[in-house]
Amino acid sequence: MPAVQPPAVVLVTGASGFIAAWIIQRLLEARFNVVGTVRSHDKGKFLQELYKGFGDKFTYAIIEDIAKNGAFDEAVKNVDVVVHTASPIHFSAKSPDEYNVPAIRGTVGVLESVANNGAKVKRVIITSSVSSVLHPAPDGYAYTEDDWNDHDVKQVEEKGDKASPVSMYNASKVLAERAAWKFIEGNKDKIAFDLVTIMPSFVLGPTIHQVKDASSLNTSISLFRKYIIANALPAPPSKESLLTSPGGYVDVRDVAEAHVQSILRDQAGDQRFITSAGSFHWQEFLNHLIGTPLEDAVNKGYPSEPSLTPNPPYSNGEKATKILGIQYIDKKQVAHDTTSSLIQRFPVQATKPAESSTRTGESS
Ligand code: NDP
Repeated sequence: MPAVQPPAVVLVTGASGFIAAWIIQRLLEARFNVVGTVRSHDKGKFLQELYKGFGDKFTYAIIEDIAKNGAFDEAVKNVDVVVHTASPIHFSAKSPDEYNVPAIRGTVGVLESVANNGAKVKRVIITSSVSSVLHPAPDGYAYTEDDWNDHDVKQVEEKGDKASPVSMYNASKVLAERAAWKFIEGNKDKIAFDLVTIMPSFVLGPTIHQVKDASSLNTSISLFRKYIIANALPAPPSKESLLTSPGGYVDVRDVAEAHVQSILRDQAGDQRFITSAGSFHWQEFLNHLIGTPLEDAVNKGYPSEPSLTPNPPYSNGEKATKILGIQYIDKKQVAHDTTSSLIQRFPVQATKPAESSTRTGESS
């Protein structure tokens, strides 16, 4: 399958999201034309303003319900690549279908629309997650692209609505990604495009997407804010929560770059890629901020205490370095840039104790 070069047209679903906004930014910088799908004109207009420096290279299309049959039929006509990011990511659902319907139907729907109407499309890139990889594992275990998270799928099958929302979300990412690979396998002789899946760990970094107020932040940045920014929680975060590793982290700009390089590089076709810079615990980010000009804005925590999980299992992001050329932004820079962006958009004086609809967990 040939790699696609600018000025080809890329359709990005879920354009209003944290990660998608950066993918679009990087695509425009690389001179691609981009059509973003959003659920409302208000969201589309915000993006048009954000990317106005790129002239008419960004446009948007409204798709209100990604789970509807044929939802993407019109949008995929005359585009060369589709990047599908739209999927619910929060931890407040009451039933698995709240995730599964948009996640699985949305993903399969994109592929069906491309197969039926996207004659020019050469590659589809799906934003999956390390949630579709991570399963219970011993200390030091290195997850790779060969791993699959059957654990949460089983949990949700067994417990249904009683499963934890984290398990429900994780399972939706596994089921959506598996459905995508199954579609490709089952339609090989009928389709003229290939598939790439990108599996980010916990995504941090600066935000450029539309956010009404701090309580409407996307899930991963909202959690960073709660653990890092002073007074974001009614009480300081516990020692255990700061010193225990919730998993791996990656900067949103690296995730965006991985999507762009997946378009540009021929050898990315039909591959899964973990994007992860390594494991973290929240105190490590705080330690990089203490003693800097950002110190007053952040919690102090327990700077001289050791990690409670010194050798956690980790997601190995080396394949994305080797094949996509991703050189991961380090922890210090991630801590600095995420914090600076947050306090610039939501000044600390104005910060109120958060109302939480999210929770921590081994999820991304
Ligand atoms: P955001 O919540 O910022 O973005 C989610 C996007 O999906 C938004 O554009 C949202 O639209 C859209 N969306 C959600 N539910 C629906 C739905 N039912 N119908 C139509 N559109 C919908 O999250 P992120 O940018 O963080 O996540 C983007 C993708 O990356 C997701 O697939 C997520 O699973 C994946 N991911 C995220 C990680 C992270 O740590 N942030 C880690 C690993 C994977 P709207 O604005 O209209 O709500």
